[in-house]
Amino acid sequence: MTSPHKTRAACLIGWPAAHSRSPIIHRYWLRTLGIEGGYVIEAVPPDEFKDFIFRLSLRGFVGANVTIPHKEQALALSQPDARARAVGAANTLWFEDGELRSTNTDVEGFINNLDACAPGWDQASDALVLGAGGSARAVVFGLRERGIARIHLVNRTIDRARALAGEFGASVLPATWDAVPALLPRAGLLVNTTSLGMHGQLPLEVDVGALPQGAVVTDLVYVPLVTPLLAAAQARGLKTADGLGMLLHQAVRGFQLWFGERPHVTAELRALVEADLTKT
Ligand code: NDP
Repeated sequence: MTSPHKTRAACLIGWPAAHSRSPIIHRYWLRTLGIEGGYVIEAVPPDEFKDFIFRLSLRGFVGANVTIPHKEQALALSQPDARARAVGAANTLWFEDGELRSTNTDVEGFINNLDACAPGWDQASDALVLGAGGSARAVVFGLRERGIARIHLVNRTIDRARALAGEFGASVLPATWDAVPALLPRAGLLVNTTSLGMHGQLPLEVDVGALPQGAVVTDLVYVPLVTPLLAAAQARGLKTADGLGMLLHQAVRGFQLWFGERPHVTAELRALVEADLTKT
């Protein structure tokens, strides 16, 4: 059991949790902003999660990140905001007016990364989103919030895309993989939220040559850092935003909520996490 912390501290709760890069990110911000605080990993098995959350404050934590497999339970045990509710999962917890609140920062991680890497991306009227899993929910929520008119949602298991479209409304249009060639020429934004293209997974086969000029391509996968999809888009001169950027941007709000200062995603931070990813 963790002993109460003397300074403000947050933690990452997961099972397993050791692989997370969050400590590198938050400790970098604590160090560079001169804030006395801590960020630790707490490996908590599912049957102990509820008890851990009830005692979060007693353990000395001002809040937490939550990862697999606890995100849905975290939502149920806290007061979620609209984003967490819509995504169906919470990844960031904090205390406000004595209550445990939660949000899902993947939404702003995705959007803020696009804003940073490809300003003007939201001029697209059609977005093509590949995948309808957990991360696609955050992506679709963010795209709707930014007013993208048509979000074509392609998934291997079409029922999953249909269910998500049913929840999110008429701007989300479910489609099967064989519709991709017809959808590419009108997609001003292409988003990969599947695990295809990740190290050890099957390749993602999409012809970026069929995208319109000026299209933006983003991949949530960040191992490898430059996925074959992003490499092909860059070779065509298209703007891209990578998964590591999203990971870094999603961490900003939690830090601000816990430690009171809004940190920046810097090239130095990126290099630090990149070095760690390359090492492993
Ligand atoms: P899920 O398991 O919830 O969803 C996986 C998705 O990939 C589903 O749509 C699934 O389709 C599809 N998929 C998997 N294998 C295949 C295949 N062989 N052929 C076609 N489709 C396939 O995962 P998440 O949404 O949580 O994560 C997806 C990826 O995004 C991961 O690589 C993860 O690391 C990354 N990620 C990155 C983040 C970042 O900050 N950069 C944040 C969150 C996730 P089906 O429904 O048919 O199974």
